[in-house]
Parts: sequence; structure tokens; C-alpha cells
Amino acid sequence: MNCFNCLTPNADDAKFCKNCGTSLYFTKTPKSPSDILLIVFITIGLIVNIGQFIIQQAFDNWYQAPIKYAISGAWILQCLSFILLPLAIKDTSLKTVGFILAAIWIIYGIYSNVIFLIR
Ligand SMILES: [Zn+2]
Repeated sequence: MNCFNCLTPNADDAKFCKNCGTSLYFTKTPKSPSDILLIVFITIGLIVNIGQFIIQQAFDNWYQAPIKYAISGAWILQCLSFILLPLAIKDTSLKTVGFILAAIWIIYGIYSNVIFLIR
């Protein structure tokens, strides 16, 4: 890692520049938990949607048991993953709004899939 003040190369674990003494602490940018939550959310959505597409292409009777349980389970998992979004929001009041909206998503997702499964 190079010092942002004098550009001297320093060891990655160095706390201060060996040339000018500038603190190197703030030059490190660790991944924030929010970024990880968002990546997990995007990954779940991608896996669920691609998986659903593959099942629907592979099985003509995908809307019948037992395959529909796999699809509904994946849909419910994706709806549950909406809880990751308000967790990633830093602003407290917007986080509360996000939790309410995510809760509506989750209730809707479970309700609509239960209707689908008992049909
Ligand atoms: Zn320096």
C-alpha cells in the first residue's frame, strides 16, 4: 500500500508511513457489512430466478407437485431475502421504512405461495 501523502510504498499492515509518518489507517477501505448484505441479496435473487427459469424449461408440469414445492420454496426464500435490504440501510428512519416494506414483501410472498401450493 502506498502512502497517500508521499506515495512511499509501505507494508499492507503498516499503521504509519515509514517515510513521513502519516497515519495509513484511513487509507484502508474494508468491505462494509452493508455491501455484503446487498451482494447476498442480489445473489439470492439471481439464483432463485435462474433456478425457476431452468425448472420451468425442464419440466412441462412445473406447476404440479412436487416440483411446485421447490419453486414456491425458492420464491419464499427470495421474499425473505428482502429483509437484507433494510439491514443494509444506514439511515435509522429510512431503515424503519425499509423494514415495514420488507415485511409487506415477505407477508405477500408467503401468502401468495401458500395459495399457489394449496390450489
Ligand atoms: Zn508517507
